[in-house]
Parts: sequence; C-alpha cells; structure tokens
Amino acid sequence: MDRRARAVPGECTGIDSRLKLSFAVTDAPQGTTALPIEIRDLTKRYGSVYALNSVDLDVHSGEFLTLLGPSGSGKTTLLMAIAGFNRPDSGSIRFGEDEVILTPPHKREVGMVFQSYALFPHMNVADNIGFPLKLRGITGSERATRVEEALETVQLSGFGARNIDQLSGGQRQRVALARAFVFGPRILLMDEPLSALDKKLRERMQIELKHLHRKLGVTTVYVTHDQREALTMSDRIAVINDGELIQLDTPEVIYNSPANAFVADFIGESTMLPLKRDDAGALFFRGQKVGDAGADEGKDWTLVVRPERLFFAGAGAETDDQTIVLKGVLREAVFQGESEMALVAIDDGTEVAVRFGTSGRASPAASITGDQVSIGLDRNDVIIIPGEQAA
Ligand code: ADP
Ligand code: MG
Repeated sequence: MDRRARAVPGECTGIDSRLKLSFAVTDAPQGTTALPIEIRDLTKRYGSVYALNSVDLDVHSGEFLTLLGPSGSGKTTLLMAIAGFNRPDSGSIRFGEDEVILTPPHKREVGMVFQSYALFPHMNVADNIGFPLKLRGITGSERATRVEEALETVQLSGFGARNIDQLSGGQRQRVALARAFVFGPRILLMDEPLSALDKKLRERMQIELKHLHRKLGVTTVYVTHDQREALTMSDRIAVINDGELIQLDTPEVIYNSPANAFVADFIGESTMLPLKRDDAGALFFRGQKVGDAGADEGKDWTLVVRPERLFFAGAGAETDDQTIVLKGVLREAVFQGESEMALVAIDDGTEVAVRFGTSGRASPAASITGDQVSIGLDRNDVIIIPGEQAA
C-alpha cells in the first residue's frame, strides 16, 4: 500500500485564507516543560458496558493528539480518566514519571475545556480566568498581569470587566480556554470544545486552537466526533470505538492507510468493494489484480475507494500497470458547489461515488445520466484493508 503524504484530502475547507489568524505563532513556547502521557491497560466499566477496554496510549510530550470516535465510544471517559474526574477499574496513567491514577484532579495540574464552557456566570471575564490562579494562592498584581496576558493571547484584551452573558459563544469559549491555560498546566484537555459553535466559527477556531497549541507547547488531548476536525487539527489521531483503541497515527496515515473497515468508513467518504484472494495471495477485483495480501492468513479483503481519488478515464481506457479502470453507467451527477459528486453503477449494480472539481477542467467525459463511463483509479491510490466491509 502506498503511503504518499498528501494535503488534507477532500473538498476545500471553507476557511477564508484572508482571515486574520488571531494567535501569534512566532512566540516561543511558554510555561512548564511539556510532559508525555503514558496510559496502560486502562479499563472502566459501567455495569456490563466497557466504556474503556484495556486501552494503551502514549501521548508524546508537546503533541496535539485527538481522540476520535462516534458518540458513546468512550472518548469522554478516557479524557475524564486523564483529568482525574473518574476512577478507572484498573490500569495506569503516567504524566512523565508520575503515576497519577490515585492523584485527585486538582493536584494533576491539568487544564480542561468543555463543550459547555462551564464558566462561572456570576463572575466577570477576568475573575473567571483568574480563578485557577486564586486557587493556587496567586494574588494581586501578579494575578492581574497573568489574566491580562491570557486575555491578550485569546484576543480578548479589554474584555476583563465584561459579564459572561455579554459575550458571544466564540468569546465564551476563548474565556474558557484562557482559564484552562492561565496557570501553566502540565496537560491541556478539551472535550468537544467547538461543538456548540456554528460551522464558520468552528473552522476558524480550529485553526486558532492549533496556533495556540503551537504557542503554548503544552501536551494536548482533544476530543471530537468530527473526523474533519480531527484531520485538520491533530499531530496524531487515536481512533476509538466501543472503548477500544482501533488505530493511532498521523492524519495522513489514518486517511490513506486505515487499519480496518471501521476506520475507513468513519474517516472520509468511501465505497468498499469486496476482493477475491487466490491461493498465492494475489487480490482481484472482478478479475483485475489490485494488490497482494502476501503471506497474510486472512481470506477476506476489501478495496476502499475514496471518491476524490477516482477520475473519469477516456472511453477506451483499460486497466494497466498504472491505472485500474472500472466500467459502468452514470446514474447521477450532483452539483455540490466546490465539487460535483457522480454515482456510477459498475457491472453488478454496485454504486461507486466519484468526486471531481467544478473548475471547468475537471468535468467527466460523459455527463448524461445513463451514459457508459470509465472511471480510473491510480494504483498509488489503492487502499486495501483486511476483513469484509462494515455492516
Ligand atoms: P463518548 O464521549 O465517546 O460519547 P462516553 O465516554 O461518554 O462516550 O461513554 C462511553 C460509554 O460509557 C457509553 O456507552 C456511555 O453510555 C457509558 N457511560 C459513560 N458515562 C457513564 C455513567 N456515568 N454511567 C453509566 N454509563 C456511562
Ligand atoms: Mg463525550
């Protein structure tokens, strides 16, 4: 399988490139030295449900790691275990050399940001941000200075005296962020912090959070169920399902080389096509060789086809060393603004989605529903996963 590094795939992000980014990126990391997190064999049950099932996870010092999975997969449980707000049944969590599994939350020196902001409504902005400092006995002018610096970092200078109910959703989340990092936490944890914001603001805040992370240099664990958000923000992504860690890798590898059908299906769009394996381990789709299973024991293999990696080939195109060609009938072509999506029914009626740009250069050779079309897949873009496709 080819692992070409690519830009974040798919359609354009909608982020306006002229947008002024709010956090300075040139500042050197400040605060305490970043710590790695080492999680071993972590299990947490609620009755018969394994919210976490023997999870092993290493978060590198200073990295931005995202826990990505569907609702109910155990993301919050894992984050709360790191923060100390729940007690796992077994396992170990280390911050650097320190075993923290028995350490109460307030002694873990962790900053937390929640989807709900969880600000104190009766305190103004400055008092909210200053609260963690107050708890640590930092008073007077030092506290005021650090609150002011934090306000500046999140682009809210001058907002200190405002009441929380005088702020927009995005501003509230910036206050929550400032409160989470103002005391120089060893670890920063965020649980779906952008979910309450509208799409445009969310995409802008994704980039801002990335910049903030670079500035602070603090080890960060971020939770989202949004695969696009995870691809946009993360150094590495931990894909979680049913309390288990399924795959841990960079966004590029998770997207280009998913470990199984769950990851392939959950991240990005795909059509899954079952393959036949011969005795020598060669893998075929409809008689065309697409890859090799090698010495692997598995009998079931699946070809994962990403819509944006397919293209319309000329009428006479045939499979060769470079390209796999599938022939079919154009069922539907739908304009979606920045791209167009076509559905092509190949031989047995299986529908394959093809995404192409709307720049005028990228149009398919045929565009009338019912036309015979050939779609091409570069062999470098072939993704093969073990097992049958997800139900
Ligand atoms: P996520 O954050 O990925 O949506 P959670 O960690 O909240 O998932 O939940 C994982 C599983 O544990 C789910 O099945 C959920 O219903 C269960 N769970 C979480 N918290 C509790 C709780 N306090 N009591 C009982 N079950 C819980
Ligand atoms: Mg959750």
